Amino acid sequence: MGLDEDALEYHSQDPPGKIEIATTKPTNTQRDLSLAYSPGVAAPCEEIATDSEKAFRYTAKGNLVGVVSDGTAVLGLGDIGPEASKPVMEGKGVLFKRFADIDVFDIELDTDEDVDVMVNAIKAMEPTFGGINLEDIAAPECFEVERRLRETMDIPVFHDDQHGTAIISGAALVNAADIAGKDLSDLDIVFSGAGASAIATAEFYVSLGAKRENITMCDSSGVITADRADQEDLNEFKSAFARDVPEGDLADAMDGADVFVGLSVGGIVDEAMVQSMAADPIIFAMANPDPEIDYETAKHARDDTVIMATGRSDYPNQVNNVLGFPFIFRGALDVRATEINEAMKVAAAEALAELARKDVPDAVVKAYGDQPLQFGPEYIIPKPLDPRVLFEVTPAVAQAAMDSGCARTELDTDAYVEQLEA
Ligand code: NAP
Ligand code: MG
Repeated sequence: MGLDEDALEYHSQDPPGKIEIATTKPTNTQRDLSLAYSPGVAAPCEEIATDSEKAFRYTAKGNLVGVVSDGTAVLGLGDIGPEASKPVMEGKGVLFKRFADIDVFDIELDTDEDVDVMVNAIKAMEPTFGGINLEDIAAPECFEVERRLRETMDIPVFHDDQHGTAIISGAALVNAADIAGKDLSDLDIVFSGAGASAIATAEFYVSLGAKRENITMCDSSGVITADRADQEDLNEFKSAFARDVPEGDLADAMDGADVFVGLSVGGIVDEAMVQSMAADPIIFAMANPDPEIDYETAKHARDDTVIMATGRSDYPNQVNNVLGFPFIFRGALDVRATEINEAMKVAAAEALAELARKDVPDAVVKAYGDQPLQFGPEYIIPKPLDPRVLFEVTPAVAQAAMDSGCARTELDTDAYVEQLEA
């Protein structure tokens, strides 16, 4: 059977879908039930009514994330609507549970693509959740939705399509630059794509130490120049990367560049464009399912070292968001963070970069078909099934939350690591 048929079979086996609610307390006796519900349940209600922080003590809020979508930019499928996005949102719940033991309610919102309606709906859900993972919301609306929610909500709000990609590929960039012997602040970086993931990734690379003035961004009309920003109705997020350079296309932009970051569409970069780049180029071709240039073509285009990452699992250096969101939320929830801020994102990227430099346990090597996994051009980011990601990234995020003042509870990091390992 093909993958599509297998997937339909997988989802339709009884019970349909991939998730269910489970209870965590005894429910066997009449007394159990009168503790779980009326009349006993009134006691925790009254506690929370006098102190809302007690919701973390008496309810599941502190381990519950809302995965929220309006279905406007689902995977590579586009605007397929909220109902059709539900398998993806349930799947995100599966990953949260599998990798970080976080529970998820998936919420598909029919908001008629109205930003105000979506913001108000999500804001109104704040009492339920310890955090909100925005998912598959189209650009540029996703930027405004997230910004407004972050301003008004006291729990983390994180649009994974933006920041997940930024953080994982940011870790890859730190290590790739190191291998190429280049400093982040000197890198000449070209982006293909100026949508949800590209804008956030470019902003994050600046947080990591890249220079905004060294970033050239291309959208479907070519290089985003200062002239275009003046003449066209470019959104403010694209305009933030407008450069005072002559108009040109992606090939012009890539000539002499150190780094290519593809978050656009497959197959738009050719061998000659790779050959025009600076020595030991870094190529992150992350369009899914087909990268901007395929792995073999890019690697064979030149004699020096091409450091290559893609979104694909069948080549080295897969930029896979599952390396980020479960652990970032785990760390944020465990200190009851009020947000996931820049310091926490940088801490996550640095922890991932650091982990890739360590020896890989045999069990992980085996899980990936015994291919050699040693820090170098073919291994710049950890593998998603490496259990150490939990122990490295999660405490780093929790520590950064405490250091940056957005944690509502403090924890002892050493004891926390032990608890995660247990
Ligand atoms: P998006 O918000 O729709 O943005 C797509 C961007 O690509 C737009 O800025 C668009 O230009 C641009 N574009 C389209 N055709 C182009 C062309 N021929 N040349 C240059 N730019 C072109 O989508 P997204 O969510 O950011 O995702 C973009 C791609 O990255 C998708 O393929 C997605 O699967 C992939 N992605 C991969 C990962 C990963 O590997 N982990 C993570 C996130 C996203 P206009 O602005 O002019 O329309
Ligand atoms: Mg997504």
